[in-house]
Amino acid sequence: MRRINKTWIGKHWLTGQAIMVTAQDGSVQTVQETDQPAQRWIAPGLIDVQLNGIGGYDLNDTDLTIETVKKVVEVLHRGGVTRFCPTVVTGSKERMLHCIRTIANACDVDPKVAHAVIGIHVEGPFIASEDGPRGAHNLKWVRDPDWEEFLEWHEAAQGRICKVTLAPEKPGAIAFIERLHQLGIVASIGHTAASEEHIQAAVRAGATMSTHLGNGAHPYIKRHPNYIWAQLAEDRLWAGLIPDGFHLPMSTLKVMIRTKGSKAILTSDAVNLAGMPPGRYTTHINDDVILEDNGFLHLASTPDILAGSATPLHLGIQKVAVSGIASLGEAITMATKHPAELLGLDQEGIGTIQPGSPADLIIYDQHPDGSWTILVTVSNGETVYEYSN
Ligand SMILES: [Zn+2]
Repeated sequence: MRRINKTWIGKHWLTGQAIMVTAQDGSVQTVQETDQPAQRWIAPGLIDVQLNGIGGYDLNDTDLTIETVKKVVEVLHRGGVTRFCPTVVTGSKERMLHCIRTIANACDVDPKVAHAVIGIHVEGPFIASEDGPRGAHNLKWVRDPDWEEFLEWHEAAQGRICKVTLAPEKPGAIAFIERLHQLGIVASIGHTAASEEHIQAAVRAGATMSTHLGNGAHPYIKRHPNYIWAQLAEDRLWAGLIPDGFHLPMSTLKVMIRTKGSKAILTSDAVNLAGMPPGRYTTHINDDVILEDNGFLHLASTPDILAGSATPLHLGIQKVAVSGIASLGEAITMATKHPAELLGLDQEGIGTIQPGSPADLIIYDQHPDGSWTILVTVSNGETVYEYSN
């Protein structure tokens, strides 16, 4: 079925120049400057490389269903996210396999889900055991790297695993990273208490990313050297950064963004409680968590241990813009172009708007204080969300 030509006009997210974008069959055909007046802005659809759930829908539920995966995609479209890495975290082997299999099955049966899911991110269970680096992951299910278990995930995912977060100091982790690298899967360093030497060995083995750099860490560490400086200084590592204002103080976020430059990636790490009312909740990966009025989400037992983010990606981007760390357009680039480059999707024109790119777009209003309102989300040439107030 051929879809008719579609046209959008908006101000380019970085330059402010009005552009006209045409698309056919879900693919961008032309991008041209235009003299037509444009009030609204246009940018590529957002890419979230780490998402555990959102809007009450939990991708790590023991009873995860295809319907829930579809709902997650719908909620993401409202926030301008057109591509994401559903994240399956530390848990029993059975629960992890169930979630991985269900996400893969959802891709099989629903073209919208298949378009949105870049690949599955498995975060843990091969992470540090100690409090702090382990974050909110349940100690009961933390284990040593096991390639046989990975192969079971790989099969359940039908080859859709695109990223694994692990701690390089775990026994066998470096060989594990080498194997991931050979399969073209991103090995990401995270939830780690690694020495500088372990970080460097991981990078030599092919690790290309730091998962939520600065989080999944001890509340107090030796000032230097430490695993945060080591990853910050390593130019070969992209860094996932959570810009919700709680995971990192804005001053730390600013320094990390400046240091990582074109390898700084904004990600939500949102959990199912994102968008839910404040209160005390029980989750599958730990005991109780508390969602404060201001969106701060932490373990009930240990208020300085964060339990994932309750801030969707578009609001994190807004925090970066409002704080003055970057312009809104630059912050959008950290959640479009940069993650696309990490995942090799830039080859397909994903993460930008150019002829041949998939027609994944957002149209938005930009307000004087740096905040924004997403008005339209287009996925694969189809309007999948329109703002109404
Ligand atoms: Zn984490």
